[in-house]
Amino acid sequence: MSQQFDVIVIGAGPGGYVAAIRAAQLGFKTACVEKWIGKDKKPSLGGTCLNVGCIPSKALLESSHKYEEALHGLELHGVLVAKPKLDLGAMLNRKDSIVSNLTGGIAGLFKTNGVTHLAGSGKLLANKHVEFTNHQGAVEVFETSYVILATGSVPVNIPPAPLTGDLIVDSTGALEFSSVPKKLGVIGGGVIGLELGSVWSRLGSDVTIFEALDDFLAIADQQIAKESRKIFSKQGLSIMTGTLVKGTEVKGKKVSVTYSSQAGDKTESFDKLIVAVGRRPFTDSLLADGCGVNQDERGFIEVNDVCETAIPGVYAIGDVVRGPMLAHKGSEEGVMVAERIAGKHAEVNYDTVPSVIYTHPEVAWVGKTEEQLKQEGVAYNVGIFPFAASGRAMAANETAGMVKMLADESTDRILGVHIVGPAAGDMIAQAVIAMEFGASAEDIAMTMFAHPTVSEALHEAALAVHGHAIHIANKRKRA
Ligand code: FAD
Ligand code: NAD
Repeated sequence: MSQQFDVIVIGAGPGGYVAAIRAAQLGFKTACVEKWIGKDKKPSLGGTCLNVGCIPSKALLESSHKYEEALHGLELHGVLVAKPKLDLGAMLNRKDSIVSNLTGGIAGLFKTNGVTHLAGSGKLLANKHVEFTNHQGAVEVFETSYVILATGSVPVNIPPAPLTGDLIVDSTGALEFSSVPKKLGVIGGGVIGLELGSVWSRLGSDVTIFEALDDFLAIADQQIAKESRKIFSKQGLSIMTGTLVKGTEVKGKKVSVTYSSQAGDKTESFDKLIVAVGRRPFTDSLLADGCGVNQDERGFIEVNDVCETAIPGVYAIGDVVRGPMLAHKGSEEGVMVAERIAGKHAEVNYDTVPSVIYTHPEVAWVGKTEEQLKQEGVAYNVGIFPFAASGRAMAANETAGMVKMLADESTDRILGVHIVGPAAGDMIAQAVIAMEFGASAEDIAMTMFAHPTVSEALHEAALAVHGHAIHIANKRKRA
């Protein structure tokens, strides 16, 4: 056994592949172990995000939005088209080709940066040794100075709705329906439920979402959540909060779902059922006895603020550790860890991780919600600007939603920005930058925004924090 790599990364999702590339850029001899086999039966890089997550879901969201727009959204602009037809096969093929372009792109980036892809499974042994088993079953043990665990997450399964592979599916199955289900049930009113529920609803499914909690989007600012719920319900999503699925039964080509809510127990039949109730960290066969790495009671690998485990030189990043399960959070942790290994003092600012739900309109936020500030006893000012008052939103016929800014009452520092509306996912980046620089609401209010853009709504929300918004009647007026 000889030291053949300085750094071994296990997992090539957006956490692992970014960490591997950055480590190689910094001059380390780096290998990345990845076991994923793609639809073409070949090893594939990019993890959940590129293969079955962020990318394919966004491809279908974009395509289904175009279809929906062609069906209902063009007449108002004076554009008359014959009734569009859906070619679902072409839509799914387009998604697959974007996935293979991007996963192949990571393989290219590994080559140009000198990262060795070890196709197969990795296991952490004691003393920072890594056991690698290739897809043919050959085993090799590597000695290394640093290990980065980035094995990600998998969907949570629930006993009342065991997956059947065709009728009851998880998010991966929901990217592959070969025809549009007439009636689609979704368990879980979170990010996946809303995004994939929207895709199939736009393509013609009658969608019902069963959410166990009483609050819709409990992690979001509740004013924005309520506004979003109104918008999504108007689009045809039937969202049932405070509803628990108690059991499912496959009956021929349909699945019957029994659920309980305040109105009592009910049974309803669906053509397909998606289970989207969250994801759990994935560490199967990863940690050998005696490797020294600890896990918490929910299975997350325990790390400190800079993602180091109990064993010096062994790090863990991304979905397999605490914090939001988001691709960009994992990537930033990957960069931080590679730079720390190189002796730099990188950090991740967990207070400015943006969240985006890619519905139409999008929902996006960063920082604290109003509910959190109340709970923490922080005094704050609020500025709200509705897209109904935005000229650009009117031009686009996208006037639903608002921008809401929360700023500290005494320092005026921005504490949170919450948006439902056009391009919210891109606009939130402006708020993230502002918060990274410790900006006040006044800083944004004094910044010039191009006219007419939807971003002006962020400017006006900042002005509204002090009662100075120009294009709405301010709730609180200040000189
Ligand atoms: P993963 O991407 O899960 O990658 C882990 C990799 O490790 C996998 O490739 C796995 O095969 C490999 N692996 C595991 N164990 C081993 C082992 N022992 N040996 C070798 N390899 C191993 N996030 C966003 O930020 N934006 C979005 O729009 C978004 N959309 C999503 C849509 C869907 C439908 C889903 C399911 C998720 C979405 N996410 C989104 C979440 C995002 O995909 C994850 O947060 C992200 O992929 C986590 O990155 P990661 O590198 O930690 O893990
Ligand atoms: P989620 O945590 O976003 O939502 C799960 C929802 O299911 C919650 O509202 C929860 O209350 C509900 N739930 C839990 N158990 C239930 C039950 N038994 N019956 C009914 N409802 C139940 O999880 P998700 O939508 O599965 O997504 C998984 C992860 O992937 C999330 O952490 C998310 O961050 C990530 N993701 C991100 C994006 C994005 O950034 N746009 C997109 C998709 C997924």
